Amino acid sequence: MLLHLVSSDKLLEARERLTALGVEHSLLPDQATFEIRADSSIIPPGELAARLVDLGPVEHTRSRTPLLDVIGKNHEVVVEVAGRAPIRFRNFGSDPVWIAGPCSLDELNDVRLTAKRLSALGVQVLRGGAVKPRTSPHEFQGIGRHGYKLLAEAAHEHGMAAISEALSEDDVPEAAQCLDIIQVGARNMQNYALLKKLGRTGKPVLLKRGAGASLKEWASAAEYLLNEGNKQVIFCERGVRGLERELRYTMDLAGAAFMQHRYGLPVVVDPSHATGVKQILEACTAGALAMGFAGVMLETHPRPVEAKSDSLQALNPEDFEAIARRHLKRH
Ligand code: PEP
Ligand code: MN
Repeated sequence: MLLHLVSSDKLLEARERLTALGVEHSLLPDQATFEIRADSSIIPPGELAARLVDLGPVEHTRSRTPLLDVIGKNHEVVVEVAGRAPIRFRNFGSDPVWIAGPCSLDELNDVRLTAKRLSALGVQVLRGGAVKPRTSPHEFQGIGRHGYKLLAEAAHEHGMAAISEALSEDDVPEAAQCLDIIQVGARNMQNYALLKKLGRTGKPVLLKRGAGASLKEWASAAEYLLNEGNKQVIFCERGVRGLERELRYTMDLAGAAFMQHRYGLPVVVDPSHATGVKQILEACTAGALAMGFAGVMLETHPRPVEAKSDSLQALNPEDFEAIARRHLKRH
C-alpha cells in the first residue's frame, strides 16, 4: 500500500502514527510517499487506510485475499440443526463451541452413546472421521463414507451438529448431504480442487491449518472457499511442525490469535492433534478459551485402547467429562 502525503509537513506525524500502529513502512526517495507493508500487518487494509485518511490518499496494492480482507470483524458462522438453537461460531464471543468425539468411527463402539454423553455435557458438535488421512497406507483408513450418515444420525438424535472430514473430491456430495460442517484436514489444506468443490456446496467448512503452512497460505486457502461464494468458513489451528519431539506438533496459539485479529472468520483450536499428549489437553483448552477463540476441538473415545487411530491422545469419557465440567460453561 502506498500513502501519498498531502504535505511534507505530515512526514514526522505519519512516521509516528505508522510506528504506533506497528506497521512496517519505509519512506520512498521522493520524501512524500510511504510504502506500507499492509499485507503482513495485523490490521486489515481497509481499516488501515481509514485510519490514515487525513494524512493523504492511500493506494492499495494487489492482495491475494481480497475477499477475506473485507469479511467483517467477528463474522459469525451459524450452523443450523433442526430442533435446537443455531450453533454460532464467533471469535471473542461468550459461548465458545465445543467439538468432540472420536478421531475415527469404528465398528466396535456405538457413536450414539458418545453423542448422548457429550450432548449432556453441553458439547454442540460431534466429530468422527469416516474416511481418514493416515500417514501410512497400512494404517486403518476409516470405515468409509457410510460413516457420515451414522455420525449425523447420532448427532441429530441428540441435538448436535455433525462434523467429519472430506478426504477427496469424491467424498464431497455425500459429505454435503449428511454433515452439518465439513472438515478439510491439515494434509489437504492446499488441495485447491477439493476447496473449490467444497466452496460450491455452500456448507460450513472447518479449514485445518497445514502443519507446514504459513498464516498467509492458510488465509489464501480460505480465499478459495470464499471465491466460490462460501463465507461459512471456520479456521482450525491444529499445530505446526516445530523443533519439538515430545509434542506431536507445536500448538501455534499466537498464529491463531493473529488470524483471529486480522481476519473476521472464527478460529477454533484443536489441542488434541496439536499436542498429542492427553495430560496437557486441559491446560491447552483453558488457554485457548481464555484467548477468545470461537471454539475448541478435542478427541475422546469410549475406550481409547480400542481406538483405531490416535488412541494415545484420546481422552476417556471420565477425563473428558472432568474437563468439560471445569471449562464448558454451558454444561
Ligand atoms: C482429524 O481431525 O481427524 C485429523 C486427521 O486432523 P488433522 O487433519 O489436523 O491431522
Ligand atoms: Mn485424530
